[in-house]
Amino acid sequence: MTDPHEAARPYYQAELSAGIERFLERRRDTCPWCGSTQISVRLRTSDLVQRKPGRFILEECRTCRHIFQNPRLTPAGLDFYYRDFYDGLGREMAEKTFTAAEHCYRGRVDLLKRFTTPTAWLDIGAGHGHFCRLARGVWPDAVFDGLDQSVSVEEAKRLGRIDHSYRGEFVALADELAGRYDVVSMHHYLEHTREPFDELDAVSKILPAGSHLLIELPDPESLFGRVLGGWWMSWFQPQHQHMIPVRNLVQALSDRGFSTVAVERGAAHHGGDLFLSLALVLTTVAPDPRLPWLADTPTRWRQLRHSAVGAVGRPLLVGAYALDSLLSKLVRRTRGGDAYRVLARKDG
Ligand SMILES: [Zn+2]
Repeated sequence: MTDPHEAARPYYQAELSAGIERFLERRRDTCPWCGSTQISVRLRTSDLVQRKPGRFILEECRTCRHIFQNPRLTPAGLDFYYRDFYDGLGREMAEKTFTAAEHCYRGRVDLLKRFTTPTAWLDIGAGHGHFCRLARGVWPDAVFDGLDQSVSVEEAKRLGRIDHSYRGEFVALADELAGRYDVVSMHHYLEHTREPFDELDAVSKILPAGSHLLIELPDPESLFGRVLGGWWMSWFQPQHQHMIPVRNLVQALSDRGFSTVAVERGAAHHGGDLFLSLALVLTTVAPDPRLPWLADTPTRWRQLRHSAVGAVGRPLLVGAYALDSLLSKLVRRTRGGDAYRVLARKDG
């Protein structure tokens, strides 16, 4: 059987030789959130997770504290960098990550339970339907539908994790979704979108009065981001287009006819920040030489170095994991987690 890495190599090498500068738009000189010209570089980095070539810049607005990729990727650029991340070569790793996030799924359910009982729920950015699988165990009578741009949402339907799958862009599909749901969720979705205001406009359009919108995002104000700097996983370049401070999101929701009923900060903490940043360091020191987008072909030396760094790193990763678990217990009692949740109700 052909090695999937080798099978993917011709595609990547052809894309790379066509030049990756074409994947970036022109740099903008205003904040996409508030229009201020007071913007400055927060982070220069690369694709630390997959190691695909390219340099990326996150800029921060000094007026509203919004953080955004600048210049941002074109849609073709996004396709290139998302490829083999959640599916294909990255499928196994993505599955592990989503399975490990079960405590977050429970946190979302516990938050919503305090305010409503869903009857029809649309999860936007549903991926492989891991969250819906858990939530429908809690509310077996509710309908759970999922929307995603990737093929993953069709797999979620096949696996029975959701009742109906919508594949495509939410804003384009919004008209057919209007008035059909009493809960919509966007978990770690908005930060991946190119135009978060368009997404919020669309969700405001489809939700009737009294319905609920649950949003979870990485917290750009997190202490982890300051302490771990460029090695903080949640900067997640080049996928994250926008990192939205919680007060900005609450205001944008209010502007669109939503009242925020709950904000969770520490309680929404994902955890694993130390483990993940150490994993990024190890991957940087000795990337998997089979990766088909690396310029060099795999050699025995590169394979040995990757295995050796893996062997040295494993006990360190175990230690980081243990430390993360201890830290998480503390952090979940504070307001300083790596993510936040906002639950909002559509006004009548
Ligand atoms: Zn701004």
